[in-house]
Amino acid sequence: MKPRKLHLPESLLQSVRAARNIVVLTGSGLNPASRLPLARDGMRGLWARYDSAALATEEGFRRDPALVWAWHEERRRRARLAAPNAAHRAIAELAVRSPGAFVVTQNGDTLHERAGSPRILHLLGRFDQPRCSACAMPYTLAAPPAKPGRQGPFPPPPACRICGNLVRPGRLWHGEPPASDVWAIAKGLAAAADLILAVGTSCETPAAAEFCYAAMADGAELVQINPNPTLLDRVAAHNIKGPAEKILPLLLARAWPGA
Ligand SMILES: [Zn+2]
Repeated sequence: MKPRKLHLPESLLQSVRAARNIVVLTGSGLNPASRLPLARDGMRGLWARYDSAALATEEGFRRDPALVWAWHEERRRRARLAAPNAAHRAIAELAVRSPGAFVVTQNGDTLHERAGSPRILHLLGRFDQPRCSACAMPYTLAAPPAKPGRQGPFPPPPACRICGNLVRPGRLWHGEPPASDVWAIAKGLAAAADLILAVGTSCETPAAAEFCYAAMADGAELVQINPNPTLLDRVAAHNIKGPAEKILPLLLARAWPGA
């Protein structure tokens, strides 16, 4: 069967070319092409027997901090071993064509950084930026090991060097709102944006949905690039169905032919 030719409307290409402040909002749909599990899939292998929701909640951390810490450390390790894919590279390239472009990611890895995107906001925290669970003092971690650690008993998380309380993972818990300083930056980006490219995200986290609605209320156009329908399909100017790593390079090539 011949693959259907992807239709990228001329009005979309014009919007992308004309936009002065593009925000690329990314999510875990960028993961599979870098062989990282999706956020909600949990982890295969030795971690499959744990409930990933319990591992990403504050209650879970209170109940068993060592287990939750070890799971986040394993995610940090895998994220560090992963390589940016064609979607991350195209998003970095977009900032060359459209110098106002900014990345707002819900992902905890550093694949946008390693692909070369110059301006990145991590809406939901980073695996490699843990902090004290009591005083919020950042905690610096050594590089993760190349091989997975033993499956329990897990050592406890490190203690804060200032107050001695447990250090918590750098990712937000499920349902936890973004840090106020991060959210203030996000709101500023939403207000200034004229185009939101929502890529590999269903915008189901409240922060992502609120970000898109705030931007649209301030006049931004929403374009979604995602394999599946989302709750925002009806309000988006364009819904391009498919994987980001295929569509983004095409979008750039057609928006700036010969560049
Ligand atoms: Zn502390």
